[in-house]
Amino acid sequence: MKLIPTEVIWFDGKLVPWDEARIHVLSHTLHYGGGVFEGMRAYKTPRGPGIVRLKDHMKRMVDSCRIIGMDLPYDVDTLCHAVVQTVSRNKLEEGYIRPLAFRGYSQLGVDPTGTPLSVIIAAWPLGGYFGEEAREKGIRVGVSSWRRMAPDTHPALAKAVGNYLNSQMIKLEARRHGYDDGIALDVEGYISEASGANIFLVREGEIWTPDVGSSILRGITRACVIKLAKEMGRVVREERIPRSALYDNDEVFLTGSAAEVTAVTEIDGRKIGNGTFGPIARSLRDAYIDIVRGKVEDRFGWMTILPAAKQKAPAGA
Ligand code: PMP
Repeated sequence: MKLIPTEVIWFDGKLVPWDEARIHVLSHTLHYGGGVFEGMRAYKTPRGPGIVRLKDHMKRMVDSCRIIGMDLPYDVDTLCHAVVQTVSRNKLEEGYIRPLAFRGYSQLGVDPTGTPLSVIIAAWPLGGYFGEEAREKGIRVGVSSWRRMAPDTHPALAKAVGNYLNSQMIKLEARRHGYDDGIALDVEGYISEASGANIFLVREGEIWTPDVGSSILRGITRACVIKLAKEMGRVVREERIPRSALYDNDEVFLTGSAAEVTAVTEIDGRKIGNGTFGPIARSLRDAYIDIVRGKVEDRFGWMTILPAAKQKAPAGA
């Protein structure tokens, strides 16, 4: 995700200019990885910019803090308000929003007790997470030699900064092999997830996705897709899934706030289905995109719509 600077970043309650949102090099999180973050999108809708499942993202951020033992100085409502402020002040019509809670400067050593906590919220324009073409054509992936963390090592359900070293190893290896992303197995060899997205398989009309015991992040887009699939009358199974099921199905797709609903057309050199964006994945992608872009009614109450940014009056007007 290329960073495209916007005007301001919310920093502990203040909106500071993008270039001035700085921290000390001896900040605790930079050294030991204790922090949590979120990632969500705002889409342009006919009524103004719409943020997808804002409250659920902020709840997960608060939950992530609880899991890793960080006393976040803000509640869910304050964080939601701060996100709205950040998007509005930057006059962003659509893009990506990144809240981050981190430990600052006061002491080093693994014991984080007493380190000051800070929260920032930044937002910038973002197109397709895997590139524009992948939104239609899908992506190629390989199974990673890096496993997801065991359930008693890192807290996979927390969107914690330190967990993303694992994601980076998966992504770097995948890129080295010429893939768009890697699929990680859990410590027992069951399918877990991609480096930054959940995975779904479709076989004979039924939809399968790894359960929360498979070292996944409890994805919010995953929840959206499960809801939409059930609404369409489809069977959705959240279960442990063996690796071999990656290869003998009709469709595979990934879900994520950034990744949206992206088809996987090839895994480890084997074509999935007929190698195109499959019909069930496509119907779920379309149903999701129609809601977030405000093309259909927001029947599940997922969207927070902001007043449309005021356009600058044309010169001479
Ligand atoms: N798994 C991982 C490891 C992720 O980083 C993400 C992106 N947040 C997801 C799954 C998808 O989660 P969500 O749909 O909430 O963005």
